[in-house]
Amino acid sequence: MSRAVRTRFAPSPTGFLHVGGARTALYNFLFAKHSGGKFILRIEDTDRERSEDKYIQAILESLEWLGIKPDEGPYFQSERLEKYQAAAERLLESGEAYWDEDPEKGRAVRMRMPDRVVKVSDLIHEEVRFDTSLADDFVIVKSDGFPAYNFACVVDDADMGITHVIRGDEHLSNMPRQVVLSEALGLEPPKFAHIPMILGPDGQKLSKRHGATSVGEYRRQGFLPEALANFIALLGWSAGDDVEIMSLAGMCEKFDVSRIRKVSSRFDNEKLGWMNGQYIMNLPIERLAAEVAGYLEGQGVEVSQFDDTWMRGFAEAYRQRMRTPEDVVAPSRFFFTDNLEYAPKAVRKVLAKDGALERLSAIREILAAEPEWTAEKIEACFRGYCDREAIGLGKVAQPVRAAVTGTMVSPPIFETLALLGRSRSLRRIDHVLEEGTEGLLRAAEKEA
Ligand code: GLU
Repeated sequence: MSRAVRTRFAPSPTGFLHVGGARTALYNFLFAKHSGGKFILRIEDTDRERSEDKYIQAILESLEWLGIKPDEGPYFQSERLEKYQAAAERLLESGEAYWDEDPEKGRAVRMRMPDRVVKVSDLIHEEVRFDTSLADDFVIVKSDGFPAYNFACVVDDADMGITHVIRGDEHLSNMPRQVVLSEALGLEPPKFAHIPMILGPDGQKLSKRHGATSVGEYRRQGFLPEALANFIALLGWSAGDDVEIMSLAGMCEKFDVSRIRKVSSRFDNEKLGWMNGQYIMNLPIERLAAEVAGYLEGQGVEVSQFDDTWMRGFAEAYRQRMRTPEDVVAPSRFFFTDNLEYAPKAVRKVLAKDGALERLSAIREILAAEPEWTAEKIEACFRGYCDREAIGLGKVAQPVRAAVTGTMVSPPIFETLALLGRSRSLRRIDHVLEEGTEGLLRAAEKEA
């Protein structure tokens, strides 16, 4: 009879949660959920020198943000020392472990490494054989009384009833010790799936050199958790149906260990940006507004001068134009300051064109007479004017855009004016009409 599936993620709090760790957590989570099992979180904080509370906090926060919720835990190994002491006792009694006195390092418990061939089966790789006759006896309890990683891991996996473990293949080399310990303690080890590491775009092991690697950094850069989780899941796994955009629930449904790739995957920032853009496209407006506002605020942009309704209109206006909220910061600056700088290019190419200022002045009067300042009414003003003058919309929209934004690009002009408000819009147009293109260019020169 097969046991109910129980998987675990067991980070050491010696650093932030990186993309590789997040993938390990995610795969164990998806596997458990797919099988109707449980996902357990265990903090392996037995390295007292290198473990830090701030890393524990950051790991927990990152997992929560990604939506990877444990069914049990977090358990902390530092709170479970009796378990390891009891197991060490048993190994000392049976003679499979012994006290090792080191005049400098102190007293530690060492496990005897038997001379034999250890067979390791894996859910992804072929059976691997290790000849342990060349391996040394190894420490299981350190001189500070804390267990060594391999020992605590074996004791806990059994104690917590873990049935399956998916983890990075850098841990394959720990298997001989873990198998020897399980057998000596008479424990049933989990089934393991060792997955290949993640590479950077250049084919080298993913590292700082390639840019952001921690989940927290991606969060600060404005990526959405569902997009990052989706992207990370695809670094080594696919559902096999060409569908790439998948919610966490969708991935739980489809996850299958046999579809994990045996070769390393490359991290492609372009693709992550694309994927985030896909999620932004479909994000409910309340959330999009909150994400964008949060990001801008973090960049020191004073969004608090606007209310929620305004923020929603703003986010909607930029929805198609961003892969992450970072893309909004520079192009939307004109909304948040009245100290506009006029790009010389916009002045020369748009405002200095024949008749541009006359048209700007004409539409200004029409807009000023419009009692209702909405995108629809503003559009009607523009369309009416263009029809009467028999000119294309661009002939008047571009000068207005240059006048109110100082640039040549913005969201559709009607929404832009509506968001900017009547008085700010008219004031900016008046400023341009008063200064004239010469004046604007002189001011731009002074700025530069
Ligand atoms: N604490 C170990 C690590 O963070 C866990 C390894 C394992 O999953 O067994 O690498």
